[in-house]
Amino acid sequence: MNDSTPVWFITGCSTGLGRALATTLLERGHRAAVTARDPRTVADLAAGHGERALALALDVTDPAQVAEAVERAEAEFGRIDVLVNNAGYGYLAAVEEGEDAEVRALFDTNVFGLVETTRAALPGMRARRAGHIVNISSLGGLAAFGATGYYHATKFAVEGLSESLAAEVAPLGIGVTIVEPAAFRTDWSGPSMRQSATVIDDYAATAGARRAATLATYGHQPGDPLRAAAAVIDAVESPEPPLRLLLGKAAYDIATARLDTLRAGFDTWRAVTVGADYPAA
Ligand code: NAP
Repeated sequence: MNDSTPVWFITGCSTGLGRALATTLLERGHRAAVTARDPRTVADLAAGHGERALALALDVTDPAQVAEAVERAEAEFGRIDVLVNNAGYGYLAAVEEGEDAEVRALFDTNVFGLVETTRAALPGMRARRAGHIVNISSLGGLAAFGATGYYHATKFAVEGLSESLAAEVAPLGIGVTIVEPAAFRTDWSGPSMRQSATVIDDYAATAGARRAATLATYGHQPGDPLRAAAAVIDAVESPEPPLRLLLGKAAYDIATARLDTLRAGFDTWRAVTVGADYPAA
C-alpha cells in the first residue's frame, strides 16, 4: 500500500451490494472505509486487511455520525477518493396505502442520508479538485411500477439530484455516477423490505399482485452482487466514467423500452406541446 492506493467510502456494507463492493475493493488492494449501522456486521470484512480497511459505525440518518465517519476516514486515509452512497431499502405500498411515518423514514435514508454524506465528503474533494461520487439509484429511478411508488419517488429524487450535482462538480474535477441496478440477489426484496400494514382490497389486482411478485423474487434475482461490484469499480476507474450505469439485462431492456415509450408519447402530443408557447413574433 502507498499513498496513491485509492480510498473508497461506502455506506450500508452489512449485506448486499455494499458488502460485495467492500469485499471486492479490499481484495483488489484498495483502501476502504467500510461502514454499517452496526459495525460488528462488517468486522469480518475489515479483518485481514490491516490498515487498508476501516470499519465505522454509520447510520446515514444521523448527521453527527455522518460527519464523524467522514472525518475519521479522512484522518485515517488522508482523503476520500470515491464516496458510494449505497445505503437504502424498499417499501411496498400502493400510494393510497402509504403510511406517513414509513414514507418519511424511507426518504430520510434513501434521499436525505445520501445528501448528508455527499455534503460531508464534498469539501475534501473540492479542496483536492478530485474525487468521484457513486449514487446507487435503481432501474426504479428511471421507470416506475405499482406497489413501489414511494421507493420510486426516492430513487427519482436521487436521479435528479445526482444529475444536478454532476453538472456542478464537473468543473471542480469531481465525477458523479448514478448506478441503476435491476433485481440483484441481496436482502432488498427479503429481510430488508418494509411493507404498509394498510392494505386496500381495490388494489389487490395491481399493487397487491406486485407486492407478492416482488417478495417472490427473493433468492431468485438474476443479478449477481459481486459482478455488480466489479462493474461499478471498473466504471469508476475507466478513463471516462459514465453518468449512468445500468446493471443487469432487465435494467437495459426496461430502461430502453422506457425511452421508446417516452419518445412515442412526446411525439404523439408534439403539436399540443409546442403550441403552448407564445406565437413566434
Ligand atoms: P440490502 O442487502 O438490504 O442492503 C442494504 C444496506 O443498506 C444494508 O447494509 C443496510 O444496513 C443498509 N441501510 C439501510 N438503512 C440504513 C441507514 N439508515 N444507514 C446506513 N445503512 C443503512 O439491499 P441491497 O440490494 O444491497 O441495497 C443496496 C442499494 O441498492 C439500496 O440503495 C437499494 O435501494 C439499491 N438497489 C437494490 C436493488 C436490488 O435488487 N438488490 C435494485 C436496485 C437498487 P442494515 O443491515 O443496518 O439494515
